[in-house]
Amino acid sequence: MAAAVTLAERDVPVTVFEAAPQLGGRARGVDYKATALDNGQHILIGAYRETLRLIALVNRDAANALQRSPLDWRIHGRFRLRAASLPAPLHLALGLLTVRGASLAERWAAAAFMRAMRNISFRLPRDIAVTELLRQHHQGQAMTRHLWHPLCIAALNTPPDIASAQVFLNVLRDSLDAQRADSEVMLARVDLSALFPGPAAEYVRSHGGQVLTGHSVDAITCNGDGYAVQTRSQHFEFTHAVCALPPHRLSAVTASLPEMSHSAALAECLQYQPIYTVYLQYPQRVPLPVPMLGLDDGLAQWVFDRETINGQKGLIAAVISAEGPHQDLTQDDLAQRIHEELSRQFGPLPAPLWQRVIAEKRATFACTVDLQRPPQRTPLKHFFLAGDYTESEYPATLEAAVRSGIACAQQITASG
Ligand SMILES: Cc1cc2nc3c(=O)[nH]c(=O)nc-3n(C[C@H](O)[C@H](O)[C@H](O)COP(=O)(O)OP(=O)(O)OC[C@H]3O[C@@H](n4cnc5c(N)ncnc54)[C@H](O)[C@@H]3O)c2cc1C
Repeated sequence: MAAAVTLAERDVPVTVFEAAPQLGGRARGVDYKATALDNGQHILIGAYRETLRLIALVNRDAANALQRSPLDWRIHGRFRLRAASLPAPLHLALGLLTVRGASLAERWAAAAFMRAMRNISFRLPRDIAVTELLRQHHQGQAMTRHLWHPLCIAALNTPPDIASAQVFLNVLRDSLDAQRADSEVMLARVDLSALFPGPAAEYVRSHGGQVLTGHSVDAITCNGDGYAVQTRSQHFEFTHAVCALPPHRLSAVTASLPEMSHSAALAECLQYQPIYTVYLQYPQRVPLPVPMLGLDDGLAQWVFDRETINGQKGLIAAVISAEGPHQDLTQDDLAQRIHEELSRQFGPLPAPLWQRVIAEKRATFACTVDLQRPPQRTPLKHFFLAGDYTESEYPATLEAAVRSGIACAQQITASG
């Protein structure tokens, strides 16, 4: 949709094929019991420049659609880091030095770590695992447990033992170490489909394009100077193509394009990590101290108070990123465990009226050390790849996906 909007903005008529009945892919709204959920609670940050720009371009209500708050990294009862009201980088330096829940020595070590990374422009001579980087910089137990590891898991959706330190540093550079506004946290007040893809589709249509949901592409073939798109029952022809499939679908759809075999092979090599979101609907408000709160000693990593965020009374979303023991439980058992954890921390709580677990098994690729990702430009003329898995400084995030789409659109308009 980012590619389509960018092309539509330049009055290029585009056709979007979406296999699902609804737009949004891995960031979509899900209706359940007359409640607007998302397939997973998403967080945006101020550093998502392009995502925020496109939302503002297509969504007339963009200003109200996101709840924006200064960074307040809070692990319930254990840890708190707040960005100070000072210009960068003092907001972070002071924030780290005044962390609650870590010794003074640990706080100094964390500030020294950020300074050391700034001195090398957040560029490592060679990629290593996040845990190794933290060890080399003598990060203490509390900082590691309550800040660096949860940040790695939240941002890269990859366990720190195997996560790329270079990508982790890219995230730190553009969020914590940038302007104060870049570290701001944004939570959608509307469901994710209504936040961007829905308004984006309207924008594309109003600029002469079409958006076809329920149209699964079976194959893309080369057709002289252009490309033919085959769905189950229809055949379409275009001058240019942006293939924005999830990586595990790439090789099947491009099987008859031998020039794509290298990119398809890279996509095939990706491994995946899950994200589970457990929705619990309580009959009354659960008293979370902040809308987004970290938990330390159970399965739930983050809990979100949807009542404060978007007025959904008594609704809690608990998020568990990356692989872990929660995957061995049935969905009912998992929901029960999360309910018990919440009751322990904020209870006693009445039994939920309903619960819904959304397990995205392939939520993102595992962002591992030295990972090779296919570029947006391909050996084929006028054929591009978009998606969070394509070459990017960022892990699998909305911003990586959006930037890749914009890059494809820019190459198309540049090539005429
Ligand atoms: C639970 C969860 C939580 C997340 N949390 C965050 C977060 O907090 N912050 C953040 O920045 N990112 C988050 N992410 C990651 C973010 O959602 C993804 O990086 C982003 O949505 C990927 O977009 P994409 O366009 O690359 O891929 P997708 O969203 O996967 O889009 C690919 C599209 O292709 C369609 N498709 C598949 N096959 C075909 C076919 N044959 N023909 C036509 N269409 C087809 C799919 O239906 C899908 O709509 C989260 C992801 C999940 C799953």
